[in-house]
Amino acid sequence: MFNTDTTIVAGPESEPLDGLIETILSQQSPIVPTQRMADALRQAFPNWNQALLAGPDVIQVVLAGARGNLTKAKAGYIHRVLGRLLAERGDLSLNFLRTYSAADARQWLLTLPGVGPKTASCVLLFNLQLPAMPVDTHVLRIALRLRLVAENTKPSDVETWFEQQLPQQWESHYEFHLNAIVHGQTTCKAQHPKCADCVLNDCCPSSNLSG
Ligand code: SF4
Repeated sequence: MFNTDTTIVAGPESEPLDGLIETILSQQSPIVPTQRMADALRQAFPNWNQALLAGPDVIQVVLAGARGNLTKAKAGYIHRVLGRLLAERGDLSLNFLRTYSAADARQWLLTLPGVGPKTASCVLLFNLQLPAMPVDTHVLRIALRLRLVAENTKPSDVETWFEQQLPQQWESHYEFHLNAIVHGQTTCKAQHPKCADCVLNDCCPSSNLSG
């Protein structure tokens, strides 16, 4: 999900399509309304085939009833994803991507409506256990303050930088991502970073930010 503050990785037995749909719901949405929309969808459509049959207008009504955002766009994306999966794979599941490499799975996900680089990275990391580095606000801020990347580097290029530096295992990416979020929430905060207490103080070019 985009709001990674409370993201819990899904196990290998879970359906990655559920993760993709939750990630679409989380676009430009805080965690609480995202969860409301996800819960409302599950209640209205116990399986995704029912959502496909209901159509985008009914999906939108469900999302709007949960006081979600961008409901028309998100309902359209979800319905088109489901339609595409049924037409191309004959199955409303993304489990087939578990046999793909991270690069191939990303390429396939990026062909879906409503799926950009960040959504694809979230699904790879949290739902498919494949190496990826979703660049959220904390990861981006830390990369910029440590000057790992140049100012104004696009988030997708920041992600590429991390993927080139980290070992190509899922665990490395997942642990780094979670640690970066905790560091960004507790120490390298957007406002008033605690540089004096930071373990990176000696090597960080921005270590005087806390004054
Ligand atoms: S020294 Fe300050 S700016 Fe640098 S990583 Fe630590 S908290 Fe962030």
